[in-house]
Amino acid sequence: MTDTNDESIVYWRKTSLYLNITNKCTNNCVFCVRNYKTGVFGFRLKLKKDPEEQAIIRELRKYLTSAFEEVVFTGYGEPLERLEVVCNISREIKRLFPDITIRLDTNGLGELINPDIDVITELKLAGIDHISISLNASNAEQYAKICKPKFGKQSFEALLKFAKIANNFFKINYTIVAIPQIDIQACQKLADEQKISLKIRHYSGPELVIE
Ligand code: SF4
Repeated sequence: MTDTNDESIVYWRKTSLYLNITNKCTNNCVFCVRNYKTGVFGFRLKLKKDPEEQAIIRELRKYLTSAFEEVVFTGYGEPLERLEVVCNISREIKRLFPDITIRLDTNGLGELINPDIDVITELKLAGIDHISISLNASNAEQYAKICKPKFGKQSFEALLKFAKIANNFFKINYTIVAIPQIDIQACQKLADEQKISLKIRHYSGPELVIE
């Protein structure tokens, strides 16, 4: 673990190396860690601005070794806000370490963020292996309350569609955050219907009041 006041583009824990390539996100989830912490695992993840692609590659080359089992696009924003960067960096990772697993943590709204691009095909061609999608609701109304998407009502359906198609090409899982306002059983049912596994994440932030 590293304690630093510097912004981290690359950070790590155990055998996972994480990439923090943007702080932009189309959602404003009530439980988002950005609301109550400046970083995780001793790394500062609030960025003054998105790093240039070459800066990400420089950091990656500095820290990525064969001791890591996976590289994860995650951090303090939605990676698909920078689809082209995700794809270029993925190619570089596979060039350096062809056997390493690349995971993308996403809110599942990549097709709304990049409406003119076949996002799933681009991700597949770039070498992404695993996609983890934040679900956090079992219906559009709950999703709007909990995740506050800037794309409005169409967001939840878009997320489900993205997951359904991606499930044909990648290892896929959904995640939910364990807050009382999220109906875990209903989310599990929905995930089961789509034959997608569901991971439940612990929440350690302040108490939440959701209107
Ligand atoms: S989708 Fe992720 S980064 Fe975006 S607001 Fe929600 S939890 Fe935060």
